[in-house]
Amino acid sequence: MRFSQSFIRTSKEEPADAEIISHKLLMRAGLVRKLASGIYIIMPLANLVIKKIENIIRSEMNAACAQEVIMPCILPANLWKETGRWEVYGSEMLKIKDRAEREYCFGPTHEEVITDLVRHEVRSYKQLPVTLYQIQTKFRDEIRPRFGLMRAREFTMKDAYSFDISAEGLDINYKKMHAAYCNIFKRCGVKYTVVDADTGAIGGSSSHEFMVIAPSGEDAIVYCDSCRYSANVEKASTQIDKILGPEIPAGSSAAAPRSKIEKIHTPNASTIDDLAKFLKVDKKSLCKILFFTNGRAENDGREDVVALISGAFELNEIKLKNHLKFINLEMIPSEEVQKRVGAYPGFGGPIGINPNVKIIADNSVKHLSDFVVGANEKDYHLKNVNLSDFSVTSFADLVMVDAGHPCPQCGAKLEKARGIEVGHIFKLGTKYSEALGAKYIDEAGQENPIIMGCYGIGVGRTMQAAVEQNNDQDGICWPMPIAPFHVILVLLNSSDETQKQCAEDLYKKMLAENIEVLFDDRAEKPGFKFKDADLLGIPIRVAVGRYAAEGKVEFKRRNSKDLKVVGVDEVVSLVKSEISREINGL
Ligand code: ATP
Ligand code: MG
Repeated sequence: MRFSQSFIRTSKEEPADAEIISHKLLMRAGLVRKLASGIYIIMPLANLVIKKIENIIRSEMNAACAQEVIMPCILPANLWKETGRWEVYGSEMLKIKDRAEREYCFGPTHEEVITDLVRHEVRSYKQLPVTLYQIQTKFRDEIRPRFGLMRAREFTMKDAYSFDISAEGLDINYKKMHAAYCNIFKRCGVKYTVVDADTGAIGGSSSHEFMVIAPSGEDAIVYCDSCRYSANVEKASTQIDKILGPEIPAGSSAAAPRSKIEKIHTPNASTIDDLAKFLKVDKKSLCKILFFTNGRAENDGREDVVALISGAFELNEIKLKNHLKFINLEMIPSEEVQKRVGAYPGFGGPIGINPNVKIIADNSVKHLSDFVVGANEKDYHLKNVNLSDFSVTSFADLVMVDAGHPCPQCGAKLEKARGIEVGHIFKLGTKYSEALGAKYIDEAGQENPIIMGCYGIGVGRTMQAAVEQNNDQDGICWPMPIAPFHVILVLLNSSDETQKQCAEDLYKKMLAENIEVLFDDRAEKPGFKFKDADLLGIPIRVAVGRYAAEGKVEFKRRNSKDLKVVGVDEVVSLVKSEISREINGL
């Protein structure tokens, strides 16, 4: 393509609402344009990148025996009502009505539709297993769309769904998809890691996320260098006994002689840190209390709960939300805690609170004895409290795992990093097939629910994550396999006939060799063109300048400072070998 005829418009200006480097660069390089909050136009260069990512995805999906379908974007409400997700999905779902007041949504994901399809098409075990996928537009009314295509409202996703007759079959398909995802991200040229993940609103028993490691990533992950354990902090666990000592056997504190509960004056010590300092004890011997609700109105199924956890840890709200099976989890406003829970914020404890309020305790509390809790009275705490002094509704793992905590597998210290979730695979099991009655008849003539898996990749997010990971102060440095063009051919002085002729000849020759080349034939200054070439991030730059008279051109890689002067005759084969090494050799 000739730059002079292209629709590429670059800019030096820092876009006002872009916070992270990849978003800034996508805007400055003219790859995307914002139409509305979280809604973007994909410009020609970005479209080239996206098509390459999609083709890599397609080839790996096809190789894993998945078949491509195209489902609609506009989905009827009745299917979502059948699974209960019309209500449960929450406000990320964009609901719409047609002229006859029939309800629809713009698909945020397609489990319902694909399961509906399969329940109508599949009768017998002979038709299974099958895996279907699509690459298609989704809409999620994200509460905080940001970072450009990273967290957009309208975005392209590859979503695949597998259907099996047994758990072993699902395992095989899950592993196949896991391997296909590894190939996809490797072939896209991004550095990624796979982590254990929370199953969230989609549901299911097990899941893994594919993370592009980048400091700006919205997800926090922990990993162990010793045994390679890695997990999203939403899911990660640790070994509590390595921090708090062994669990206290149930009933032992009640049976054994122990100190009596004592009310102690703790003026102004309303935080765990202040209290630990005041009592001159370690935070871990204190028991924190937090107040949550499902956020519904009092007369509309409101549930208030308290959560307890050792002062050694922070509470992981996602784990609590999953444990409670709440659609929504929020803190009770502190001015309402006394009235609703019967506890005094800052000096709250589980003893003597409103009996209708559930007490959920993190497993760490089982490791505490003679601990300190709030007395539910301003400036007072109770000491020598034990689990036998109040009744816990349920125990759960609610710990927010952090760097330095022991690895749950091998006990070594965990490290922490940030990542961008580009892909997510789930073992769904029978959640959707049971809700929608997607069954098959087995060899013995029995009907059984089909066992499902689902597998997503954010296409636009992957493109932007590649930019987030591959850039420098001058602009983008595209990995070769997804670069919009492999070569930028720069004519330095367009009024110099020799240079012009040489560049035109080279352009034709590259096109004839099927080299993806952007020819900067504009009548602009060399410095200006080089700046654009760097900003656009095309991996190979061939510049035709003063050496043209000697039949030579300048060859430079985007991610290196080295500049080689090479013969016009050699440059095409040099370019071709670099491209093929980096695409096929990856
Ligand atoms: P997140 O936790 O980032 O909201 P998710 O768990 O909701 O992601 P999935 O439902 O698993 O995402 O969707 C599959 C893939 O779609 C994700 O791995 C991600 O790459 C992409 N994706 C999800 N939400 C967005 C979004 N708002 N913008 C761009 N891509 C997205
Ligand atoms: Mg989401």
